[in-house]
Amino acid sequence: MKFRVAGLSDVGRCRSLNQDRYLVDPTSGLYAVADGMGGHAAGEVASRMAIEALAQSMRREEGSSWDDPAEAGRCLEQALLEGNRKICESTEAHSEWRGMGTTIVAAVAVGNRLVIGHVGDSRAYLLRNGDLTQLTSDHSLVNEQVKMGLITSEEAQRHPHRNIVTRALGNQPRVAVDLLEETVQAGDLILLCSDGLNSMLDHAEIREALHSHRNVPQTACRALVDRANARGGEDNITVVVLSPDGANS
Ligand code: CA
Repeated sequence: MKFRVAGLSDVGRCRSLNQDRYLVDPTSGLYAVADGMGGHAAGEVASRMAIEALAQSMRREEGSSWDDPAEAGRCLEQALLEGNRKICESTEAHSEWRGMGTTIVAAVAVGNRLVIGHVGDSRAYLLRNGDLTQLTSDHSLVNEQVKMGLITSEEAQRHPHRNIVTRALGNQPRVAVDLLEETVQAGDLILLCSDGLNSMLDHAEIREALHSHRNVPQTACRALVDRANARGGEDNITVVVLSPDGANS
């Protein structure tokens, strides 16, 4: 299955640096968003290293697309672990980068299936028949508390510690990657985003922006970024929107 796809990254209205990074590689069927963390521009280094390791490990030549979701999942996991290893090694060699890390969410197209891997709080969503579903489950302090029933998801959205992630690439030599698979169909939209989007817009607002612009991924990206900036743009905002071909209705 072919996808129409667009990506957009914006510094937002409060930060001077954009530490987010995204990848759109239709030849390899590979799409990703990474959100770097760390002072002295180290976050930028971490997100770039994770994306580069991913792109390199998952590269496919034209006409040799993925055909086995299980194999793609194994490769995706290894590619993310490779990024983790590279960031950890760089941190050892450069003391000024200590503490840097990055979240990442990546999707690989395998026929009409998407294999999604993630670490941290960058998200994947599915818009189908006008309904928006969050596919990934954040590795964040507030989401742990939501899952334990200590706070509601509405409280998590406004929580002062909502930015604290419990997993990231580059912080520990060992990290667990969450993998999931989704069958996609004409009319669906898949959104990958950094938390600069979903910390500014709630679920209904993301749904509405995607649904209103569902025919043109590029316009959908622009609408999401503009709305997050209109709400304050407190963080870098990055979005990738995928639309299975024939999804014009
Ligand atoms: Ca962020």
